[in-house]
Amino acid sequence: MDIFKPLDLSGDYKKPDTENIEKTKCLIIGSGPAGYTAAIYAARANLKPVLYTGLQMGGQLTTTTEVENFPGYPKGVTGPVMMEDFKEQAERFGAEIRFGIATKVDFSGTKHMVIIDDSKVIETESVIIATGATARYLGLEAESRYAGMGVSACATCDGFFYKGKDVAVVGGGDTAAEEAVYLSGLCRKVYLVVRRNVLRASVAMQQRVLNVANIEVLWEHQAVDLYGESGVEGVMLVKKKGTPQEEMIRLKIDGFFLAIGHTPNSDVFTEFVETNETGYIKTIPGSTKTNVPGVFAAGDVQDPVYRQAVTAAGSGCMAAIDAERYLSEMHN
Ligand code: FAD
Ligand code: NAP
Repeated sequence: MDIFKPLDLSGDYKKPDTENIEKTKCLIIGSGPAGYTAAIYAARANLKPVLYTGLQMGGQLTTTTEVENFPGYPKGVTGPVMMEDFKEQAERFGAEIRFGIATKVDFSGTKHMVIIDDSKVIETESVIIATGATARYLGLEAESRYAGMGVSACATCDGFFYKGKDVAVVGGGDTAAEEAVYLSGLCRKVYLVVRRNVLRASVAMQQRVLNVANIEVLWEHQAVDLYGESGVEGVMLVKKKGTPQEEMIRLKIDGFFLAIGHTPNSDVFTEFVETNETGYIKTIPGSTKTNVPGVFAAGDVQDPVYRQAVTAAGSGCMAAIDAERYLSEMHN
């Protein structure tokens, strides 16, 4: 067994360039609504922010079509166009937007070090972490085939498109219960697809789900495929998988909602920044301050509850204001 493998320096690995450290006042990590909003505010406050976009320039909304609930777009807007607007607005005030990923940080000193793409070293007086959270999917090929065509991981975002229709929600936790209840107010029928014979959700949420007439819980069911011509028309379910009573079921639905949890993108920071038990960065209530002075967190990476573009943007604004106040106190 390979217990210790020496670092492979022959391939793409680059040693961080510690000779040429770039210094900034305000470094923003992430280019979703939180990061770009922080950049707009920080640039207007003359903090000369540098923003690294990460792999997904524009964030989660670049994976969706219509966004109808972001204020200021009365006719709706597509996610990619909206995020281009955010970027343009941040650049208009001088924010420097760069493509790159924060791969390592050292927040042990008063100045914070962030390594980009394993090579470039940035020393910054303040950091705004806006790296978002990623919805978990089942891993079915059909989920990507029908992305934006009946598959969604956000009922608040997409439920409206299924008014009067039949949908399935996968999951048995509080999120699934909440999303099922939310969708029951819009849809004709909601099937809650639960892989075990119990719900993980809190007792209060369980009672709410079980008392809604148009929610039907499908106990011990697992989704294994989706079908439909130009969008989701149904789901293939296996009931009591792996038992003698195993049964394949074809269920007609128009929308397939995943609610099996989210993973906050906080791994890079957890050596220094406190998180809750599920990895969300902890902030001091009413602010974006983390446990590390000068390090702020905004958007979904610190928000297990709302996870909306407008709340992410709002906390991005808060983070820039918190950073500006921190810097002015530091320099006075
Ligand atoms: P994100 O948008 O997740 O952006 C995170 C950013 O961090 C990305 O740019 C990523 O590249 C970057 N990043 C991650 N790790 C690193 C790293 N190590 N280094 C550098 N950068 C990094 N909300 C609504 O309000 N309305 C909607 O209609 C709506 N529809 C949605 C549809 C879909 C399909 C999905 C998935 C979500 C939807 N949401 C919607 C939710 C909304 O997209 C999120 O709440 C919002 O994008 C969160 O913003 P954020 O800035 O916190 O993070
Ligand atoms: P969660 O509690 O981790 O629940 C995830 C659910 O998805 C579980 O029921 C799990 O099934 C199921 N699941 C996971 N992988 C699956 C798969 N591959 N196939 C089928 N089912 C799968 O996640 P969450 O519901 O998002 O909640 C996260 C945290 O936020 C929790 O602490 C929750 O209490 C909290 N929260 C609270 C509220 C509220 O209080 N109003 C609302 C939302 C979330 P198993 O049960 O079989 O593992």
